[in-house]
Amino acid sequence: MPFIEIEFQTDDPRMRELCQLYWEVDGYGKFVHRVADFAEKFGLKAREVAKEVRQHCRAFRADLLCESCGAHVKYLDNRSDVSLGWRSRDWYRYCDTCEDAIQSQEEERRRQQDEILNQQKLEKMQEAFEGGVYESLSLLEFNFLVALATSPNTDVARKKNSAYPRKTLNQSSKS
Ligand SMILES: [Zn+2]
Repeated sequence: MPFIEIEFQTDDPRMRELCQLYWEVDGYGKFVHRVADFAEKFGLKAREVAKEVRQHCRAFRADLLCESCGAHVKYLDNRSDVSLGWRSRDWYRYCDTCEDAIQSQEEERRRQQDEILNQQKLEKMQEAFEGGVYESLSLLEFNFLVALATSPNTDVARKKNSAYPRKTLNQSSKS
């Protein structure tokens, strides 16, 4: 059963005790002490305890290590974070640093893919042009096609196109 480890951020023995009482779990992963039972001892209201604990220690699940670098994963903000993590392992796969790195790698990969796709489109247009397919188009039509095909985000172009007829419909229903 997972248990919780604490890194103290204070030398104050009273605050250390508060953190320990807050985060102590039994062999089944259940919290040993009810917050209301010890809050008063520290001159706190029950709802103030979690914030105070957060300021004086960092808590994490001892069994969850980053799959990439082995660091502790996701510090726990409050008790409900713990049960959340026990339910979904995926949420805790990587530490924040590795998560960021993986995300920017993914973005870079997508950007490169887009670039390749755009390049392919350009080449196809070039081929078609050289094959004489577009010779019958006007210059305006041809420029429009080039702009559409080489747009960095053809989804945007598509959305604009689909929004246009809706607008004209609204206008005509008003008049
Ligand atoms: Zn990591």
